[in-house]
Amino acid sequence: MVDAADLKSADRKVVRVRVPPRAPLKIEKDPLTDMNILLAQFIFEGNSFSTGRADLSDFREGGIFLEKENEIRLWTNSAESQMSGSLETLDHKEGIEVHPVFVAIAPSPSGRLTYDCYHSIKDGLLRQLKGALPTDTIILHLHGAACAEEEDDVDGALIEAIRSELHFTGKLILSLDLHANITRKMIRHIDALTAYRTMPHMDFVQTGIRAAKLALSKKSFTLTVAKISALIPPTDTDHHTGRFCSILNEARHLETLPGITDVSLFPVQPWLNVPELGSSVVITAEARSEAPRHAQNIADSWYAQRNQGKHLSFPGRPW
Ligand SMILES: [Zn+2]
Repeated sequence: MVDAADLKSADRKVVRVRVPPRAPLKIEKDPLTDMNILLAQFIFEGNSFSTGRADLSDFREGGIFLEKENEIRLWTNSAESQMSGSLETLDHKEGIEVHPVFVAIAPSPSGRLTYDCYHSIKDGLLRQLKGALPTDTIILHLHGAACAEEEDDVDGALIEAIRSELHFTGKLILSLDLHANITRKMIRHIDALTAYRTMPHMDFVQTGIRAAKLALSKKSFTLTVAKISALIPPTDTDHHTGRFCSILNEARHLETLPGITDVSLFPVQPWLNVPELGSSVVITAEARSEAPRHAQNIADSWYAQRNQGKHLSFPGRPW
């Protein structure tokens, strides 16, 4: 077991971090009979090697930028997304009030967000959430590999700002793309996490449904992260077959074990040169589960794959 600070160095093959459950929610009511949930989605995949920059026009004109609930709901009716999966699960549920407040999506991978674009996104997200407070729970749908001019960890900074600037103390659930770069900032402030399980990605809605179920859970979770020093070629992460498929199968098996709620795998977006870069296993589990041991084992299995396929031609080559 190591301190979260060790995530900053990728000089060992597996680094494991455990985040204990946060203090119980300070609400004096049954969270399943009277609950308010806010939803927001920001999807941008950075490429720190690109000289290109993405600005607000890439969201407003080339992508999606919505701040009104009726417009967001209209969009979710026509586009499969994490947001639509969460809404599908939470809408019309007795005792649950749910409001989608912000969506920003740009085509990617792009370079970095411009400084102004990043701050416009951050200000917009915080303004929309603040305007809808108080709330018991926030579900954030992010990519997890966004970077900007002067900010290497945009997703972590947004999550941190929800705690530090909005002083939100309720439940914070995160859903991510499987190419996310898991950082200390991201995991320190959240209660539970899930991510895509398909490559190419197809399970946007299912991921949103899983995030909504985590939001509805009465359980108190711990998060365990095991990070491996590996950049895995995206051509080698097919969920149907091959090495990554076998690790996905291990993850699904772990979710059948007592106390293990979600096992998410992150073969990180490799076109990044940012701190804490690496591929990750993140387990959302109940406090007394065997999550640390399972995280270590699955990370070891995954890292051991790096030399497999030495004698095969593409795509079975070693990492
Ligand atoms: Zn992806």
